Amino acid sequence: MARRSGGQSWNSRVVGAALAVTVLAGGVSVWTAQAGEANGTAPRASATARGKVPKAVAVSIAHASDAGPRGVNITIDDGPDPEWTPQVLAVLKEYGVKATFCMVGTQAQAHPDLVKKVVAAGHRLCDHTVSHNTAMDKRPDAYQSQEILDAERMITEASGGVRPMYYRAPGGAFTPYSRKLAASRGMRPLGWNVDTKDFERPGTAAIVATVEQELPNGPTVLFHDAGGDRTQTVEALRQVLPELKKKGYSFGFPVR
Ligand SMILES: [Zn+2]
Repeated sequence: MARRSGGQSWNSRVVGAALAVTVLAGGVSVWTAQAGEANGTAPRASATARGKVPKAVAVSIAHASDAGPRGVNITIDDGPDPEWTPQVLAVLKEYGVKATFCMVGTQAQAHPDLVKKVVAAGHRLCDHTVSHNTAMDKRPDAYQSQEILDAERMITEASGGVRPMYYRAPGGAFTPYSRKLAASRGMRPLGWNVDTKDFERPGTAAIVATVEQELPNGPTVLFHDAGGDRTQTVEALRQVLPELKKKGYSFGFPVR
């Protein structure tokens, strides 16, 4: 409803954004500076300042946790979603856990309030492309570039200037090119060790069991907060988080 009433300005923003992307695709990082000048309002200016200079990070795919050998990285993909993201945020808050949210650009653009809530709660953002094309590794570099940079921009705008710190290719469809591009923009390529398969709704017990069985593979665990009914995901997190704490794990972020 709110989006429809604001349709006109939304459209004009999209046109402006498309122009900005053209500039970015040229390989020049002048967009943030231009955005700051074009939008003279104070909040935008400060947001732009915060998001300004991306520092390059390593190009290899990260799995380790900054919380050390008993650290676990909770990662939440494909949102934000108005129904499920608030529920996931509530569970994370209940157990004092910080997570990494791999957002689809268009979802972030549609729900900037949720992106801001994720950031305000101390979680980190991750670029999960615009179209979630799990075969993007078969597409030309120009396509990959657009998918990654457009989503980066959409997420950063939605957050009010907080940049995604990671890049996770949909379905793990990384290429050397996409890893290098993301890393040059300060987004560490992010893998996972435990695929809970929550997306397939195997049942809460199965999701919980997968985490317990596969955590020895590595610390980065994959969940989803969009793409269908995520009741099982929310319930699984409610069981997994206190259980892992009890077993002496702590929660952290993927290394950069
Ligand atoms: Zn995904």
